[in-house]
Amino acid sequence: MTPALQILKHYFGYSAFRFHQQQAVEYIMKGKDTFVLMPTGGGKSLCYQVPALALDGTAIIISPLIALMKDQVDSLVANGIPAAFLNSSLASEEQGNILRRLRSGQLKLLYVSPEKMGADQNAFARQLQQIPISLFAIDEAHCVSHWGHDFRPDYLLLNRLKDLFPAVPIMALTASADKITQKDIVRQLKLNDPAILVASFNRPNIRYYVHPKKETFLHILQYINDHPDESGIIYCLSRKSAETWSGQLRERGIEAGYYHAGMEAVQRARIQEDFIKDRMRIIVATIAFGMGIDKSNVRFVIHADLPKSIESYYQETGRAGRDGLPSTALLFYSPADVLKLRNFAIVEQNAEQSALMLKKLQQMADFAESQSCRRKYLMNYFGEQHDGNCDSCDYCLSSFEVTDVTVDAQKLLSAVKRLKEKFGKGLVIDFLRGSKSIKITEDMKQLPTYGIGADQSREFWASLIQHLVRQEFLTESGPSYPLLQLSPASNSVLFDGKKVTMQTLHQKALAVTSDPVSENVYDDMHKGLFDELRQLRRRLADNEGVPPYVVFSDNTLVEMATYFPQTVDELEQISGWGSFKMTKYAEAFLELMWQYCPANGLHSKMHRVQRKKTIKKKAVTSKPKTTSDTAHKSFYLFREGNDVREIAQLRNLSPVTIEQHLAGFVATGELDISSLMDMHKVPTIEQAIDLKGQGSLRMIKEALPESYNYFEIRLVIAYRQSKEIQ
Ligand code: ADP
Ligand code: MG
Ligand code: ZN
Repeated sequence: MTPALQILKHYFGYSAFRFHQQQAVEYIMKGKDTFVLMPTGGGKSLCYQVPALALDGTAIIISPLIALMKDQVDSLVANGIPAAFLNSSLASEEQGNILRRLRSGQLKLLYVSPEKMGADQNAFARQLQQIPISLFAIDEAHCVSHWGHDFRPDYLLLNRLKDLFPAVPIMALTASADKITQKDIVRQLKLNDPAILVASFNRPNIRYYVHPKKETFLHILQYINDHPDESGIIYCLSRKSAETWSGQLRERGIEAGYYHAGMEAVQRARIQEDFIKDRMRIIVATIAFGMGIDKSNVRFVIHADLPKSIESYYQETGRAGRDGLPSTALLFYSPADVLKLRNFAIVEQNAEQSALMLKKLQQMADFAESQSCRRKYLMNYFGEQHDGNCDSCDYCLSSFEVTDVTVDAQKLLSAVKRLKEKFGKGLVIDFLRGSKSIKITEDMKQLPTYGIGADQSREFWASLIQHLVRQEFLTESGPSYPLLQLSPASNSVLFDGKKVTMQTLHQKALAVTSDPVSENVYDDMHKGLFDELRQLRRRLADNEGVPPYVVFSDNTLVEMATYFPQTVDELEQISGWGSFKMTKYAEAFLELMWQYCPANGLHSKMHRVQRKKTIKKKAVTSKPKTTSDTAHKSFYLFREGNDVREIAQLRNLSPVTIEQHLAGFVATGELDISSLMDMHKVPTIEQAIDLKGQGSLRMIKEALPESYNYFEIRLVIAYRQSKEIQ
C-alpha cells in the first residue's frame, strides 16, 4: 500500500482513490503545480488533503467562503486531523491562538480567506515564509479569473504567491472552467508548467427528469411526501413564491424554509445552518442559495421554473448527491417560461451580451424539449461524448413501442402535396387537424385532406414530421422559413405501400409517484435500522456542534443498514470508518447494532460486501439487459469453444456485435467474466468507470492505458450489472 493510500484509509476510511485524485496527489507530492478540474462532488478536497498529511509542513488552503471553510475544518477535525481556519469571522484572540499553533508546527492544514492572504501588502504571506509550507491549494480557483462566472477581486492578490514561494507547489481546483478561464487561472496564479487533470462532468448518480409544468406545487408536495426522509432544494424564480411555497409546505407539517437575496444576512445564515444540520429538510430558494454549501446528502433538486442557462441548471442540480448516492433532478417546464425569461435575458444597451444570454436560454429550452437522452444533451453541451443510453433519465427510463404509422404518414404527405409544398409545419398541422385558424383560407378548407388528422394531437404530428424528415420521406427547407416539401422517397409511401414505423412513447418515466427506480434504491436496506442510525448520528453531531454528515455520510449509514456489521473488524469494511472515527464512535454504533439487530432478527451480512461501494455501484448501474435469440446463438458457439473472431466469421457478423452478445450474458450472470478477460485488469477499469461514468466508452478508454480495449470495458460494465441483480 502506498503512503497516500494508507492515509486515505486511516484518516478518511476510504479504500480507493477516485481516478484523478490519485494522479493529483502524486503530482503535488512530487512538487509539481497541478490544475484539477472536477465537477461538484467529484472529490476535490482529498486531492490536497491527502498530500497535506503525507508531506512535512503545513498546507495552506485558500477558500472563498467562510461557511465552507468551517465545514471543511469541522470534517477534518472529526477525522482526527489537526486543521484550523483563519478569516475575519474570528476574534483576534482566537486568531493569535491559531497563529501560535501554526508557528509551532502543530497544524497540517490551515484554511485562509483570500483577503487575509493579501492584506497589508501580503503581511500574512510573509509570516508564512518563516515556516515550512507543504503546498498551496486554491479552491474555487475560477474566482481568480474575470472570465469565470464568479470573479472575486481578492483572488487577484494570489498572483503574488508564486513569487513569494517559488519552491512550494500550487494546486488550483475548480468545478467550472471553460478553456479561456482555465488558461487565465494558470496565468494569474503563474503556475509553472502545471499538470492538468480534467475529470468527466457526468454525474451518474443524478437522475434527470423533466415534467410538464402543470399543478407544479401539488406535484412537488407529492414528491416530498413520497420521499419523507430526504432533504432537497426547490429553486424558483421569485422571492414571493419562495416564501409562499415554504409557508404552504410548513402548513402541511413539512420542515421547510425559504431563502433569497432579499433577506437579512443573519436570517440567511440561520436557514442555511438549519439545512446543513438536517434540522430543516426542504429549502425553497431563489438562485441565491447553494453557493456556500457542501451538504453532501441533498437527495433532490427541483426546478419549479426554468433556469436561465445549462450552466446554471448543471450547477444547481449538481448540489444533489455529492455523496455519490442516487439523487434526483426534476425540472418543471413550460414553453411560457421561455417567453418570461427572455425579458430578463436582455441586457440594456448591450446587444452582444443579450444575444449570448438569449442563446443560452434557448439551449436550456432545447434541453427541456429534447426527445432524447438528457444526459447526452448535458454531456455534449460540455464538450463530452455520450452514447445516449444512460438508463437514468426520463427519456431512457420511458418505455417506447414501435407503431405502424403508414396511414398517418400518407395523410401528412398528401396534405403537403395538396398545399403545394408552400407551408411550414405549423400550418400543415393546423390544416390536418381541421383548425379554424384564420391562416387556413376558405380554399384550403375545400381540399379533401383538410381535417383528416383531427384524431391525433399536435405533438403527434410534430414528432411524425420530425421522424419523416429524418428518414428523408419529407424535407424541410426554404430560403427564409422552413417549408415542408416532398422528397423523391415520398412517392414510395404515397403510392407504393411503403411501410413507415415510428417509436412512440408508451409510458413516460415520471419522478413523481411512479418512479420505479427511486423506490428500490434503498431496497436492501433495513429502514428501521437506518432511522435509528440517523438518530444516533444526529445526537452525536448535536453534542459536538457539527452537521450530521460531518460525523458520517448517508452512504456510511446506508451500508451499515444493509450489511449489519457487528464487530470492529466488520465496521472497518464499511466506507467512511477511518481510525479516528473508529476510536470515537465504534462503541456507540456497535451498541446500537447489538441491541437492534437481535431484537429484529438481523444477522451480519458482511459476507455480501464483495467490494466497497457496492451500494453506490448498484445505484448507478442500469437494469440488466435481456438477451435475444441471436445473442443466444453466439453464446452457444462460445460455449462450444469458439472465440469471438471465429464466431464472427461463422455467423457473418462483426466482432463487436459478438462482443456485445457475450457481454449481455456476463450481465445476466450466465457467463463468467474470467472466461473472457484477464481479471487483473478489472479494478483499474472499475476505477475509470467510477470516474468517467458508464455513459461514454470512449472517455473510459481514454482514461486507461493503451493495452485496455473496448471489449474489456464493456465486460466490466456488464459484470457490475450482474452483481447488481444477485
Ligand atoms: P468537491 O469539492 O469536488 O465538490 P468533495 O471534496 O466535497 O467534492 O467530495 C464530495 C464527497 O465525496 C465527500 O463526501 C467525500 O468524502 C467523498 N469522497 C471523495 N473522494 C472519495 C473517495 N476516494 N472514496 C469515497 N468517497 C470519497
Ligand atoms: Mg469543494
Ligand atoms: Zn438518458
